[in-house]
Amino acid sequence: MVSLYAASKKIYPRSVEGIFAYWRWIFVVLTQLVFYCLPWFEWGSRQAVLFDLGARRFYIFGLVLYPQDFIYLTGLLVISALALFLFTAVAGRLWCGFACPQTVYTEIFLWIERKIEGDRSARMRLDDGDFSLEKLVKKWYKHLIWIFFSIWTGFTFVGYFTPIRELAMEFFLTRMSSWELFWVFFYGFATYGNAGFMREQVCKYMCPYARFQSAMFDADTLIVTYDTERGEPRGPRSKKADVALENLGACVDCTLCVQVCPTGIDIRNGLQYECIGCGACADVCDTVMDKMGYPRGLVRFSTQNAMDNKWTPQQTWKRLMRPRIQIYTMILGAIVIALLVSLGLRTPFKVDVVRDRSTLSRITEYGTLENVYRLQIMNATEHAQTYKLSTRGLPGLKITTEKEILVEAAQARWVVLRADIPYGSSEAGSHKIQFEIAAQGTDDVVVEKSVFIVPR
Ligand code: SF4
Ligand code: SF4
Repeated sequence: MVSLYAASKKIYPRSVEGIFAYWRWIFVVLTQLVFYCLPWFEWGSRQAVLFDLGARRFYIFGLVLYPQDFIYLTGLLVISALALFLFTAVAGRLWCGFACPQTVYTEIFLWIERKIEGDRSARMRLDDGDFSLEKLVKKWYKHLIWIFFSIWTGFTFVGYFTPIRELAMEFFLTRMSSWELFWVFFYGFATYGNAGFMREQVCKYMCPYARFQSAMFDADTLIVTYDTERGEPRGPRSKKADVALENLGACVDCTLCVQVCPTGIDIRNGLQYECIGCGACADVCDTVMDKMGYPRGLVRFSTQNAMDNKWTPQQTWKRLMRPRIQIYTMILGAIVIALLVSLGLRTPFKVDVVRDRSTLSRITEYGTLENVYRLQIMNATEHAQTYKLSTRGLPGLKITTEKEILVEAAQARWVVLRADIPYGSSEAGSHKIQFEIAAQGTDDVVVEKSVFIVPR
């Protein structure tokens, strides 16, 4: 019997220092500072960034967005997708190696693990060793901190959808709603499971991005590469050995590049889909090269063309700005500018006019012909605002209900609007009319189209 199932082997990445490790930690700190601190910022009397799904309103600093502003979210998604294409075409899986939440949380969880259980060999010894009090204490301690951190992460996540200060109060008074509690623990559990246990398996088996990345690579994309020509034949040697005499390449076969790899691959076998481009192997190999007194860069970020044609770093960087990259950059720049301009020109209120379906048209006690509408005004500003209503499109058309509507800050209000014309002043049929809604004290005006029905 041949089993088709192979249990995955646990990976114990060795800690590493170097330029790429430094930048990875910069991104860990920056992204997490933003994630954990942002919901605590206030903007006036409300949370600065809040996605209030119940009230169907998104607050992003000075912006109040309604479901009608969905186009901006679409724009943001298009920008994110294009930015991903651009960065991948330039430098491969930059996002995966440096900013993806899976990488960032795995890095944090690994850091906690190292602080408690030690580096690679100590962790392997501890896992292989028999049960002991030390093992029990270390494991419990580690999981306790992981769980605390995960719940804090879940709590922060929910704090983007429910005011976080109220949520904190409810949490301490054990008065959280069942849904809030569910999402805190669900997101916390996902963090704990993905960063504590699944780790590289999420990248290898679950993330779709790893599958289509090769479609975005070309021979001028920066990838982590092993310089086979320089490194082979590999083999151990003393520091003083004459490599030419012993017919050896620069690789001392120390396997440190494999030991630091968070996905457990050997970069010397060439580019593999598991490689997340974190550069840990390049960092550790540079330290080995330094110790041996060899030039750095046996494992480095380079391109296929640069390796094949033995380009200098200047030639490689020059080639990076190829037409494809220029086109991506131009499209991305144009969409970003268009989004910013449209946000800048956005009217700070929205209006919806719908005809009252229960009354098509009726003759009033004053002998006029009346149509009834329902009008919704959404105030997207942070202060109460009065709106003046007027209408045009038919001779004698006028509004007979309230013409000035007060809407509280960041609120929406439905009002019934009646409009009439002198009886017999227009032919029977459906006539196009317009409602003009002007925010008092500003130049902001919205014109909404509708129809006025004159029966036969
Ligand atoms: S770290 Fe460098 S020298 Fe050591 S095995 Fe890897 S490629 Fe060879
Ligand atoms: S091969 Fe190197 S760059 Fe790729 S994931 Fe492993 S350590 Fe990171």
